[in-house]
Amino acid sequence: MSSQLKSYLCGAWQEVVGESVELVNPTTEEVLATVGRGAQDTAAALAFAREVGGAKLKAMSFADRGQLLAAMAKCWHAHRNELLDLSMISGGNTRGDAKFDVDGGTGTLMAYAKIGEQLGEAQFLIDGSPIRLSRSPRYVGRHVQMPRAGVAIHINAFNFPAWGMAEKAACAILAGMPVLTKPATSTAFLAVRMMELLVEESVLPVGVLQMLVGSAGDLLDHVCGQDVVAFTGSADTGQRIRKHPAVVAHSVRVNVEADSLNSAVLGPKVKPESETWDLMVREVTTDLTQKAGQKCTAIRRVFVPSEQLETFLADLKNSLDGIRVGNPGSKGVRMGPLASRQQLEDVQAGLAMLQTEAEMVHGSIGPGTLVDVPSNQGYFQTPVLFQLEHGQQTTAVHQREVFGPAATLIPYSEGDIEGLASMLNLGAGGLVASIYSDDRTFAGAMMQQVAAFNGRLNFGSKKVAEMSMGPGAVLPQLIHGGPGRAGAGEELGGLRGMALYLQRTALQGDEPMLAEILASGVEV
Ligand code: NAP
Repeated sequence: MSSQLKSYLCGAWQEVVGESVELVNPTTEEVLATVGRGAQDTAAALAFAREVGGAKLKAMSFADRGQLLAAMAKCWHAHRNELLDLSMISGGNTRGDAKFDVDGGTGTLMAYAKIGEQLGEAQFLIDGSPIRLSRSPRYVGRHVQMPRAGVAIHINAFNFPAWGMAEKAACAILAGMPVLTKPATSTAFLAVRMMELLVEESVLPVGVLQMLVGSAGDLLDHVCGQDVVAFTGSADTGQRIRKHPAVVAHSVRVNVEADSLNSAVLGPKVKPESETWDLMVREVTTDLTQKAGQKCTAIRRVFVPSEQLETFLADLKNSLDGIRVGNPGSKGVRMGPLASRQQLEDVQAGLAMLQTEAEMVHGSIGPGTLVDVPSNQGYFQTPVLFQLEHGQQTTAVHQREVFGPAATLIPYSEGDIEGLASMLNLGAGGLVASIYSDDRTFAGAMMQQVAAFNGRLNFGSKKVAEMSMGPGAVLPQLIHGGPGRAGAGEELGGLRGMALYLQRTALQGDEPMLAEILASGVEV
């Protein structure tokens, strides 16, 4: 019999009442658990976090908070095989996809644990050196970054239940803010098990991390000006959160990580079969098929010089033909199903829309040939490629994120770099754009013209072909987020990731007095 998932609020597991939804294994359609969508006492949970968890964290040093993050990572790593199995069963992930999520989460926690160790016994950050404000060196200004006195409310997307929870929690807890995390309902199964492990093994002080499952309900009605909302998901939900009356009334700090039409560009004069060419073919293939294309950073638009389009398409098709799709638990399978029936319906509606403007040149709308899956079972969609005649002719390709295994090839004229950049920027703000080229002048021109429209630029070249991590992996050392439709958010990036959870305050006064009151801080 499947279980009913519970929330972990105010230091105890709480039943979630109301109408239930079923969580399903997307490969077999077997029901794994149910989740209630009824009301929960979110006001009490937020108050508990502020009063209990917040007070504990603020009294701790960065090194102590870092140790909490390391303990979370060690707990999850000790149960790694169980978590990978759950990720495969509940999310349709291959083992490689599951590692990407689970190990990505523990790796990010460890990276922030290390930052905590480096910051040592300090409890807050001192932002820069003294600034002389008058003729006398005694009267100076300083800046300090203190943990905010509220709750970090983390609302996560369905595609990374482990990493999404971990990367947000790492920054908030290290900064000194307690967390209330809300996994997306469709893949909450894994996130709840991860929370259970932390509770069973008493890894965190009570109140530091709570979990709300089911609907967000009236959660945002109870926010205050010291809280922070960090959201990952669709642009529509992001806009609803930003416009929520309590969020607006209390000027609540909101970070939105939304969708994105990420791009990859094959630079002019890159020769077929060169290292740079092959790197791009490999990385586009990975992005299309890893997690069945359900990655916010996945490449959706592939810009190729007109003269090379035919050859590049042939190589990409060939590479995609090598990817076996089917039961993610079966040997040799590199791509599983989409995460839910809703996801499948959304992706197939998106493909049909793209088909009105672009030619489908590989795959079809449907599951294709599957390994170890009975017919008509599971939420499978075979990889699909589209091609445009002219990049400027269309709107859907530059506007509709199909959150699955699909990308569109778009030709450009080698002599028209400005035209290429303006097509790329039609995405209106992306998380990452990849430039594959060994030509540094071209790379520089692209940076000048597209950096303002993207949170990250990934330069693929023969010099890094063997070590490239590709655009899909979000690294704790680099910022993640992007302008415009990508949500205008910013996460991670080492120390930068804590900024969301810290209040920067200017201090002015007597230099020795300021030095004394800042003694328990660390200058960064
Ligand atoms: P979604 O439908 O917008 O849901 C995201 C989260 O918001 C879920 O936890 C959802 O809860 C919650 N939610 C829904 N309505 C809400 C409301 N009115 N108030 C508060 N919370 C609410 O997105 P999704 O389908 O899970 O994720 C797919 C999208 O996420 C894609 O567009 C993808 O590009 C984007 N994404 C972006 C990033 C990034 O870092 N930029 C990363 C991953 C995914 P329920 O599940 O309970 O409805």
